[in-house]
Amino acid sequence: MFYSSYIEISQSALAHNINFLKSQLRPGTQFSSVIKGNAYGHGIEEFGRLAYTCGVRHFSVFSADEAYRLQQVLPHTATILIMGYIDEEELEWAIAHDIEFYVFSLARLEQAAAAAKSLQKPARIHLDLETGMNRIGLGGDEIEKAADFICKNEALLNVVGACTHYAGAESSENHERVISQLAKFRSSVSFLQSKGIQIKTLHTACSAAVMAYPETHLDMVRVGIMQYGFWPSPEIYQRYMGISTDRTDPLRRLINWKSHIMSLKQVQAGEFIGYGQSFQTAHEMLIASIPVGYAWGYSRTLSNQGQVLIRGHRAPVVGIVNMNVLMVDVTAIPEVALKDEVVLLGRQGNENITVASFSELTTQLNYELLTRLPLNIPRRIIE
Ligand SMILES: *Cc1c(COP(=O)(O)O)cnc(C)c1O
Repeated sequence: MFYSSYIEISQSALAHNINFLKSQLRPGTQFSSVIKGNAYGHGIEEFGRLAYTCGVRHFSVFSADEAYRLQQVLPHTATILIMGYIDEEELEWAIAHDIEFYVFSLARLEQAAAAAKSLQKPARIHLDLETGMNRIGLGGDEIEKAADFICKNEALLNVVGACTHYAGAESSENHERVISQLAKFRSSVSFLQSKGIQIKTLHTACSAAVMAYPETHLDMVRVGIMQYGFWPSPEIYQRYMGISTDRTDPLRRLINWKSHIMSLKQVQAGEFIGYGQSFQTAHEMLIASIPVGYAWGYSRTLSNQGQVLIRGHRAPVVGIVNMNVLMVDVTAIPEVALKDEVVLLGRQGNENITVASFSELTTQLNYELLTRLPLNIPRRIIE
């Protein structure tokens, strides 16, 4: 395959993170791997297979296209749950292929029953309950109406789960809101049960709730960011480190983003590098070009700010990040040569370029930076 950069995904790091996360759960609480946003930039197919190898059997995606891509690469023993978007045509496909999905409106419930009827196969649904996020979810009198509809269409609707999502479990600022969401969830579930609706799996917790609110774990947790080795917020990290006896971060990053030096050029003192005049050489410099730019997700805001690793040394980005090329100063790197490996993100030798350092520079969250890594950079699994 041809490429100008590639992303390595570490299997041992994922196995390690999943073990850690499972150690935070009661035995019997199921682990669902959240792989929306192209598996937070890691690549749905590659990451999905890897997670399966690491023992994960439940996956949560945002939309039907993600569910489709994932199902192509997973054995049938894996369960796939669509938490977000699914249109009417996709509903039939999902039911036919044993894909589970959230129901967050009465219209969706009716559509699911209609699709199940025409397929002669019950829909496997999760009732998304409004508890205070006010984004999507069945709320107010919709819950009662949904319950009545489900009771009348029992043969068509298999209520596998009930769920909700917290509006900010990663910050103690939202503590009251999270606690009240859980209480509301419990009371809506009791109501559904009082109507005779059996619900096998209750699930509410994302990564932050797994760490900060053990009472939210219930039957299953939906973990995204932490399985990739990132903390949902500095606060959750500090909170954990405060109560842990071990001083080391229990999570490991999976991603290394790498490229190579494409060209080396000696530049005289007083010259400008690249477009415009944002960088002028103070002395004679050796400049390396790397075939990665903002079209590949290397943000233009890292112009004259970012750093890469070459031969275990940090090399600063000089000049403006171009669409497909960026330049770095390698004057101080001994024996630097054409085709040398360049690490844009991740580890080389004793140095490390973290996503957080990227994010601080560009004021993006880990979540956003990861998911903006383009789909078409090849992902490779490493040990
Ligand atoms: C993204 C998402 C999660 C996972 O969140 P993390 O913070 O990455 O663990 C869980 N549930 C829902 C509904 C989500 O959209």
